Amino acid sequence: MTLEKSKHRVSAAREETEARGETFYPGASRIHLAAYPPKERWDDWVELDPQAWPQRKERHYTLVPTTCFNCESACGLLAYIDKATGEVQKFEGNPEHPGSRGRNCAKGPATLNQITDPDRILYPLKRVGKRGEGKWAQTSWDEVLDELAGRIRNAIVEDRRQEIMYHVGRPGEDGFTERILAAWGIDGHNSHTNICSSSSREGYQLWMGLDRPSPDHANAKVIFLISAHLESGHYFNPHAQRVIEGKTNGAKLIVFDTRLSNTATHADHWVSPIPGSEAAILLAIANYLIQNNLYNREFVRRWWNWEEYLSMEHREVDPTFENFEQLLKELYQSYSFEFAGKESGVDPSMLEEVAKCVSTAGTRLSTHNWRSASSGNSGGWQVARCLFMLNALMGAIATEGSVFPNAWNKFVPKPIYTPPHPKMWNETTWPREYPLSMNELSFLLPHLLKDGRAKLDVYFTRVYNPVWTNPDGFSWIEALTNEDLVGCHVALTPVWNETSYFADYILPMGLGSERHDIHSYETHDSQWLGFRQPVMKAARERLGEEICDTREVNPGEVWEENEFWLELSWRIDPDGQLGIRQYVESRKNPGERLSVDEYYEWIFENSVPGLPQKAAAEGLKPLEYMRRYGAFEIATKVGALYEETIPPEEIEDGRQDQFGRVYTATPKPASPNIVPLPTIDPDPEGRRFVGVNIDGTLKRGFPTPSGRLEFFSRTLADWGWQEVAIPTYIRSHVHPENMAADQSVLISTFRLAMQIHTRSSNAKWLNEIAHTNPLWIHPSFAKRIGVGTGDLVRVETEIGYFVVHAWVTEGIRPEVVACSHHMGRWKTHEQGARQMMATVKLDHQNTKWGLQREKGVEAYQSSDPDTLRIWWSDVGVHQNLTFPVHPDPVSGMHCWHQAVRVNKAEAEDKYGDISVDTNKSRAVYQKWLAMTRPADTHSPDGTRRPYWMLRPLKPAREFYRLAGENDPAASSSRDF
Ligand code: SF4
Repeated sequence: MTLEKSKHRVSAAREETEARGETFYPGASRIHLAAYPPKERWDDWVELDPQAWPQRKERHYTLVPTTCFNCESACGLLAYIDKATGEVQKFEGNPEHPGSRGRNCAKGPATLNQITDPDRILYPLKRVGKRGEGKWAQTSWDEVLDELAGRIRNAIVEDRRQEIMYHVGRPGEDGFTERILAAWGIDGHNSHTNICSSSSREGYQLWMGLDRPSPDHANAKVIFLISAHLESGHYFNPHAQRVIEGKTNGAKLIVFDTRLSNTATHADHWVSPIPGSEAAILLAIANYLIQNNLYNREFVRRWWNWEEYLSMEHREVDPTFENFEQLLKELYQSYSFEFAGKESGVDPSMLEEVAKCVSTAGTRLSTHNWRSASSGNSGGWQVARCLFMLNALMGAIATEGSVFPNAWNKFVPKPIYTPPHPKMWNETTWPREYPLSMNELSFLLPHLLKDGRAKLDVYFTRVYNPVWTNPDGFSWIEALTNEDLVGCHVALTPVWNETSYFADYILPMGLGSERHDIHSYETHDSQWLGFRQPVMKAARERLGEEICDTREVNPGEVWEENEFWLELSWRIDPDGQLGIRQYVESRKNPGERLSVDEYYEWIFENSVPGLPQKAAAEGLKPLEYMRRYGAFEIATKVGALYEETIPPEEIEDGRQDQFGRVYTATPKPASPNIVPLPTIDPDPEGRRFVGVNIDGTLKRGFPTPSGRLEFFSRTLADWGWQEVAIPTYIRSHVHPENMAADQSVLISTFRLAMQIHTRSSNAKWLNEIAHTNPLWIHPSFAKRIGVGTGDLVRVETEIGYFVVHAWVTEGIRPEVVACSHHMGRWKTHEQGARQMMATVKLDHQNTKWGLQREKGVEAYQSSDPDTLRIWWSDVGVHQNLTFPVHPDPVSGMHCWHQAVRVNKAEAEDKYGDISVDTNKSRAVYQKWLAMTRPADTHSPDGTRRPYWMLRPLKPAREFYRLAGENDPAASSSRDF
């Protein structure tokens, strides 16, 4: 069909639909058949039953929106609930969702497989054998709640609050559980972020005070990705569709990826660098822009903190912009294309072409780096910093087609209750060796426990599988099986996972369509709020039923977390004496527990601008509106908020510091829901930073200590990292000079588009498409070690080895190997995801561990006839078990790339074999710990961490002080 013809069909379809008074959604395709059901017919949507063909048998559906929970993008879904059976027939995209616009990746519709998975956990389970022995008995929610409430209450009353920890993988919500922990008065939040994205976050935060980029790909002239973003990046589907839109509109696409990913195949410029050299290339591009005066001089003059840089580092020169420009040229002149070519193994002329392409972007340069090179390498946080430097040079920040600070493209509504900051500091999650870490040192937990620094009384893991996902899984098993270190482990999970085998309780939590959450992410230059909801509750309420508890509509006794946490908190403090109950009590019915309906009703009625009006226009209450449509767009085209002039009433007086920072005692931003208040130190009179003087006008600026974009990070300089205080290239731990001659780099971080960590292993459609993870190896490398595709290779790390099949491909650099981290799931007992978990045997003698595969997956009888059709047996190899911890001394990020020796497997090796010595893991942990610059010796002001830096669940200000022997901060305190 020609473009003209398809456009004609679209407009004809639009006219026809709108003539019926219905909403027309053009859909992802130009052909009207790809459009979505008009929202006016969501109560009774009719489709023909394909299985009844050639009969025209109608099926009637009620369509209920919810949000996908299979990655962090939070795309909208529509559940098609068959009115005759009362069951979900399928999930498709929700066209009312501003981020995903009705489009999903394969994992979205596969939510159907997850809710019907015959192997899912349906009832609360209690361990009855030894930990890890695999013996379970069904228990009741009441028993679990009473046991946990009692333990937690005792820990609070006995001031052992550091012994309670909630360790979350994918939150999928905006702050609900953090507020529960704050209500308990504990600093017990632990995250997965330091094995995921903290390195990039660090780089972005150092520049702009906010830790994530929000690229406007659709309107860019040049799109620059350091990742496989089109198949698996952060905010994958919402971004990928906008990258393609940008390309369709003529944007050039630059991709850095050592592998020939599907994203690389779409690039105009594909650069395959030696892993770890990315920052060297980025600085060569920056140098090209600087030496040739191709940067946005006026933007740099107005918004970079160059005056602060000169005053701190170059007192010998007059603080003029011209002198700064001269210094800039000198600082980066050594980053030639030849230098970058040598470091990266890429032809310098190709790098020059890329630089020229970047220089054509003007302010329409959208860039993104998230995991990838940042997460692979020590010093990886400088990759994000050097990439963002290109935006900062071009003035491509918060302009159309550029990159926005995430908080400006995201909306976090005020909740019904805001408990105060906890009055304690948890050293188990925020050890003093890492004062500048972006997030909790979560993956060091077993080592910190073994060090004797702490023990845990109640440890929750939630959507988190550290035994499998984290590096050094055997050290996790050692810690989790030691009841002196972990008193009670509670796994909150919808599915079996390797970590749940070492739990005392396994509690079945709702999947994406069985729970409530709200979320908002920086998918483009807009602000939206999405609402995840249990679809069967919404459907039955449409029929007039009253549903008070999600267990009434979920399978078995599957519960949702909101209700679980509210009830647990209620039982911890039944009489209100601990001060907890007040945060989970109904306002409408004092004396009763807050319900989930009231919680969201309050938010939607009171803190989402425009929602009550929009709902009223349709004769709905705000909660009804969100239940009906699943998402609401608050603002579009947010623009350059840093240029906003501060209204005079926000500024108490005209006093400014030497760099033009403006303070106020009572900050009242013009857009309180849009501009995050910077948490910069108040001045001695208690006034807070609110903006910055730019050429005589007081502007909102950025939430950095200087109010400007921080080319120079005084924070880094003050805390002992002066040599890296400006964007620089740090040679990675896998730089050739840091490896032996017979070692190669293993890239272990890449995702497959159809799988995601633990969560997708119970989705049969996805499992059929992608279920194994052979080692990518170049033909020249394969020839050198004498292997071909399908042969076994042994990959030796610092602490052990794994045995895997080779896949010989030219889609990888000759000296590098790669293995996807989504595979290699295992179980030691019958219980588990039988479609994706091999059955294995664990060997253990002292610190020596082994894992051998006993059998792969096979067809089996279940409530789903498709499980008899399973044709695959290979589910990959669990490589992460063989990786030691590599905490970056600045960001705290685990640096994933491994220096490995790859050889043909030995005669006794079998597929899937793993061997590890956890003594070696300890030695590597200690080696990396010794690289840190701890707060005790490097804090400039006696605190543990710069207060302005982001931190989930910030403790009260006084607990930032390093504890002395007689200091109250040495322990915790709480006013009861
Ligand atoms: S990108 Fe895919 S997995 Fe992620 S939220 Fe969207 S549909 Fe779900």
